[in-house]
Amino acid sequence: MNNRASFQYASRLVLQFLFLAAIFPFAKADTQYYKHTLFDNSLEPDAYYYSSGRASAPSALELIHGKLPVSRDLFYTPPNALRLKWRSVPDGGWEAGISAINFRNREIAFHGDTLFFWCFSAAGIPASSLPLIQVSDAGGNFSNSLPLEKFVASLAPGKWVQVQIPLDEFKTASIHELELQHVEKVVFVQNQSDGAEHTLIVDEFMIDDRLAAASAPAGTASSLPAPQNVRAKGYERHVDISWDSVNEAALERYVVYRSLDGSDFTPIGIQVPGVNRYADFLGKPGVSARYKVAASDHRYKLSPFSNEASAATKTLSDDELLTMLQEACFRYYWEGAHPISGMTLENIPGDDRIVATGASGFGIMALLVGVDRGFITREQGLERLTKIVTFIEKAPRYHGVWSHFMDGDSAKTLPVFGRFDNGGDLVETAFLMEGLLSARQYFNGPAVHEKDLFQRISHLWETVEWDWYRRSPQSDALYWHWSPEWSWHINHRLTGYNEAIIVYLLAIASPTHAVPAELYYSGWANQGEAGAKYRQGWSATHEGDRYVNGHSYYGIKLDVGVGSGGPLFFTHYSYMGFDARGIHDRFTDYFNDNQAIAKINLAYCIENPGHYQGYGANFWGLTASDGADGYMPHEPTPRMDDGTMTFTGALSSFPYTPQASMAAFKHIYRDLGDRAWGEYGPRDAINLSEDWVSPIFMGLNQAPITVMVENYRTGLIWKLFMSNPEIEPMLDRIGFKPGRVAVKSH
Ligand code: CA
Repeated sequence: MNNRASFQYASRLVLQFLFLAAIFPFAKADTQYYKHTLFDNSLEPDAYYYSSGRASAPSALELIHGKLPVSRDLFYTPPNALRLKWRSVPDGGWEAGISAINFRNREIAFHGDTLFFWCFSAAGIPASSLPLIQVSDAGGNFSNSLPLEKFVASLAPGKWVQVQIPLDEFKTASIHELELQHVEKVVFVQNQSDGAEHTLIVDEFMIDDRLAAASAPAGTASSLPAPQNVRAKGYERHVDISWDSVNEAALERYVVYRSLDGSDFTPIGIQVPGVNRYADFLGKPGVSARYKVAASDHRYKLSPFSNEASAATKTLSDDELLTMLQEACFRYYWEGAHPISGMTLENIPGDDRIVATGASGFGIMALLVGVDRGFITREQGLERLTKIVTFIEKAPRYHGVWSHFMDGDSAKTLPVFGRFDNGGDLVETAFLMEGLLSARQYFNGPAVHEKDLFQRISHLWETVEWDWYRRSPQSDALYWHWSPEWSWHINHRLTGYNEAIIVYLLAIASPTHAVPAELYYSGWANQGEAGAKYRQGWSATHEGDRYVNGHSYYGIKLDVGVGSGGPLFFTHYSYMGFDARGIHDRFTDYFNDNQAIAKINLAYCIENPGHYQGYGANFWGLTASDGADGYMPHEPTPRMDDGTMTFTGALSSFPYTPQASMAAFKHIYRDLGDRAWGEYGPRDAINLSEDWVSPIFMGLNQAPITVMVENYRTGLIWKLFMSNPEIEPMLDRIGFKPGRVAVKSH
């Protein structure tokens, strides 16, 4: 088949995909869910992190570490609710705030005109003894306090009641107008001082403009169909329950039920639309359970139950555990991918428009592992990769370079990091190309559509203008960004040591737009003032600021690297494809250098100078992630360590530290269990000192686990990437040689 014919074939494939997409509407995604949900459940079992409270004597309010306690036995939606337990006494006071979870790329903008929540009191509470309620918005403006009794009668004992409060009842009590669509917090405040202790369970805080739900008690049937084809699969400590998507506009959530005795089913958890999977921890091997699932609408009315599925936990070998880990993380890129583009979402939950270029490259490598391990068929992998390639072929390119973020529907560039970031991102493009070049060598069979894909990837590779990102023919480095509007305004010179060695490797390897191999030394490994200043800027140390380091940390010598090595993702992203084993440049052999960085990170966490909870030989691996207070590139220095443990750190280091990574994996899975593990494997991060667990999974952090575990087990992605014909000549041009090197001190 010639090029033209294969192009037509590809176009037919595209048309088929679009046709299928039209017939089978894609499941509603979670962004919609979070435009209505202020609170549904706490991820942490004891105290809700996104809450606050205080009391002044003689009044009292039950708090755990200053947060509201979680009610696990009483809830409206499983697995929990929040408990308000107070005593209102004259001359005292108390208040309790419940905030929306402000995860990455969530816009706190609710769609609706009414605040709803469910409440329950075992003993009953007279209306006059109910607290006051107020709200505040994302700008910190707060409302007046309204008596709850205005909206709800006395609470009968043991009965769930839904409260409805029109948002316009709340008037500003601060100096600015209250922005009701940006309400992010509900606050309960002491009202009548009856001196008695009251307990109110509250759950499901929603802002909505659809019909109120009070007349429809939970459990009455809705028009939603039962979820179909419920499956259950047992692992060592948990069961994965999955089902076919219910594609109905009225779907608000799924409710998962479990029975341990085969007859008595209890609700154990909910899942948002767009995710058709739930991980249920049973705690130990040898436990059998049966499951069924119902769909629930915005009035909390349930569909008929699904079929029942059963599974039992069972002892798994280390190999089986690793496969489980790889498959769980792989699902982020398979089931969790953007439905139109097939690309990787920046984070889940998040903003379901935003697909990320570099994370999509990582996702492609995870897909290859998925095919090779039989999680999906070769045809499925090929179809998905074709979808991704078709999308990035039409996406805007800036001298061949893609932007960091795109709209997954339209491919439009999304300047998520600010107005200057509306052009090409060379690092993200290199990560994407790392994945594409690995895929080119995997789908390299004689079938027509594999040949076609090979050619299309080759064309994408050959049209990346690496040399343009040199900025000028005299420049001795590559630059991270270029935008048609802002040109070189961001002015980020690419200087190692960090995650980006792959950029220089690919730029030098390019068959069409190569840069000279000397840029590796003048740009990436720059030992002059420019490089030193750059490294000091982010690290606040002189150690390693001339690229080479030479110091020892915890008795481990570091040839190359800034300070004590930096965040661990430096040793993952480029090395998912680049197999640095057995070769060295004039400075170091990077596999061993990365191993040193990982071992220093482990030793630091064992020493634990910050005295953070949980740190040790099985809880280590500081690297970049969002923490309780936002993003931080965590690294083994007291300055960049706040107690947040990002699971990809230890788990993506398997090739460097197999025993210590396995110890971390078993601790995360067996001991932290459902606090740490969700539908896509380990959650992004946890901070045991703060009782915080990340509400998200990150596109950059799950795939390195799948891929680096595979490299540890079989070297698959290393072999694929290194087999590209442009790689070995490039390494020769730079001066990589076989064997180890003894670094000279500077
Ligand atoms: Ca709940």
